[in-house]
Amino acid sequence: VTAQSSARLRAAVHAANLLIPEYGLATLTWGNVSGVDRDAGVFLIKPSGVAYRDLTPGMLVTVDLDGHVVDGDLNPSVDTATHARLYRAFPTISAITHTHSPYAVAFAQARRAIPVLGTTHADVFNGEIPCSAPLTPEQCAHDYESNTGQSIVDEFTSAGLDPCEIPGALACEHGPFTWGTSPAESVRHAVVLEAVAQLATHTLALNPAVPGPGAHLLERHYRRKHGADAYYGNPEPQSTPETTTAQ
Ligand SMILES: [Zn+2]
Repeated sequence: VTAQSSARLRAAVHAANLLIPEYGLATLTWGNVSGVDRDAGVFLIKPSGVAYRDLTPGMLVTVDLDGHVVDGDLNPSVDTATHARLYRAFPTISAITHTHSPYAVAFAQARRAIPVLGTTHADVFNGEIPCSAPLTPEQCAHDYESNTGQSIVDEFTSAGLDPCEIPGALACEHGPFTWGTSPAESVRHAVVLEAVAQLATHTLALNPAVPGPGAHLLERHYRRKHGADAYYGNPEPQSTPETTTAQ
């Protein structure tokens, strides 16, 4: 692993942490973003209790996939062991965001998965966003943060869910964890999760018995943006070769 690639990851994780307040997902210092370097077997995470406006790239803490600090002057986020557990269980994810955004937390506190009620949800999450089971007294007393991650992993394992297709979950009575292929993408998924939680709250208030859309519509919307047959968006602008004008 080159020093250059680790500097790139550090810059990306720092920038993504600053997106949390920019997108209005943060209350006080709550929330954190991490990004993993799979080759080096470490991830970078926000230090505990540091205000976003004071956060510099050098303050990010480097920890291994067991959550042990490898490098850094500050204590890592208290949620570090949750991130570590998710990285170990989901080898396809590269970054994790955790927030206490209010509508998502409301579902977590209600012990409810966020149901798919429309295409806004289906564009990004290919199914309901699971809520983990409440932790037992034993799970809270020992390795609480790791058990929080395990409770999310258990939801994916028991339901056979693919973390690439459902890029987030709710930790019961706590809040959302989202992930992605980059730190910025994991934050975007946190933004979408909060938006669909807000929409679901209002939808269920207007019609508690709403059936939700059929699988045919949901599948169509998800596959417009994901997988081999995706057709949403436009290709990156091609750099046109320098045209030499014949004089
Ligand atoms: Zn939290």
